[in-house]
Amino acid sequence: MDILIVEDELEIAQLLEMTLSREGFNCFMCRDGYDALQIFAEKQPDAIVLDWMLPGLDGLEVCARIRQKPGQKDPYILMLTAKGEEIDRIIGLSTGADDYLVKPFSPKELVARIRALLRRSLRHGGQSLIYKTPHFTVDVDQRTAERYSLESAESSGELLDLTTLEFNLLATFISQPGRVWNRSQLIDKLWGDNFFGDERVVDTHVARLRKKIEFDASNPTFIKTVIGVGYKFEDMN
Ligand code: CA
Repeated sequence: MDILIVEDELEIAQLLEMTLSREGFNCFMCRDGYDALQIFAEKQPDAIVLDWMLPGLDGLEVCARIRQKPGQKDPYILMLTAKGEEIDRIIGLSTGADDYLVKPFSPKELVARIRALLRRSLRHGGQSLIYKTPHFTVDVDQRTAERYSLESAESSGELLDLTTLEFNLLATFISQPGRVWNRSQLIDKLWGDNFFGDERVVDTHVARLRKKIEFDASNPTFIKTVIGVGYKFEDMN
């Protein structure tokens, strides 16, 4: 499993490399955005740990350019951000990153996040698992999600462009329509039991998912907030 580490602060880069190598990952390293694009093209890593603030091209731009290249390997991208930066800003930008970590983070937390992303990506084969509701078809093995407009006469759906986490969140919701989930249950589904950090991360991912699947994200009809508890997914005719 190959991981590209893009980080200009030497100490953090070394910590990342040591931690991930010890876990058995094959690491490539670089410290600026242009090198990152070049190494990505040559090595086609499975995952990229990408610092936001970089010399040359910043992490957001690197992420955008990698996502714009169809046909290439679609890596899992974990974005690193400095503590002072607003998480809400990352969310609002829809960076194309699959997950993010706020510095300073513990090596354990990093490994748990990477493993969660890759574990989901390795689920291939076996029987197909497809969820259908009036407006959605989610194919867990193909990792595709389509949305249908009931008002339109067209029978084909619109393919939703979701990150790994957003897809996993939608698949979780749609696997049990009507079920009320609290935040820690959703964290358990998305990151497993090795989660460290703020439960608020669930709210930010729900907000991102709503922007992509709701017809009107400010007035959601599919992912409903259950006050004092969490969220539930409903899709009625
Ligand atoms: Ca940096």
